[in-house]
Amino acid sequence: MSIDNPDLRYLCQRCGNCCRWPGDVIVTEQEVEAIAAHVGMATDDFVQQYTRLSANRQHLSLIDNADGSCHFLEGVNSCRIQPVKPAQCSGFPNQWKFPGWREVCEAIEVTEP
Ligand code: SF4
Ligand code: SF4
Repeated sequence: MSIDNPDLRYLCQRCGNCCRWPGDVIVTEQEVEAIAAHVGMATDDFVQQYTRLSANRQHLSLIDNADGSCHFLEGVNSCRIQPVKPAQCSGFPNQWKFPGWREVCEAIEVTEP
């Protein structure tokens, strides 16, 4: 039986691969307001232009590019809304992970007692 090490943390290497993962980027109401303000848009306009329904139709998600990457990814690894990026983004991979994440994520494992 394997037991998760509670002291294990992942240090992001900013490869940008999680931003290219073709899945929902869930945004809460408060996050939408903050992102809209950050990009200088009215919240309703931002919702119309830059969000869609999540796969389970219960949340809002940021829209994707045609290749499945996040619309707010700029270049290889820059987030255009970095100061106000959603908790889903900052929480990966320490708070949550998607199936097969280790094959794409370049984060380094560290132990923090
Ligand atoms: S919002 Fe930023 S950090 Fe989050 S997936 Fe999009 S580009 Fe990546
Ligand atoms: S895939 Fe992993 S290492 Fe790359 S940016 Fe995302 S969290 Fe950081």
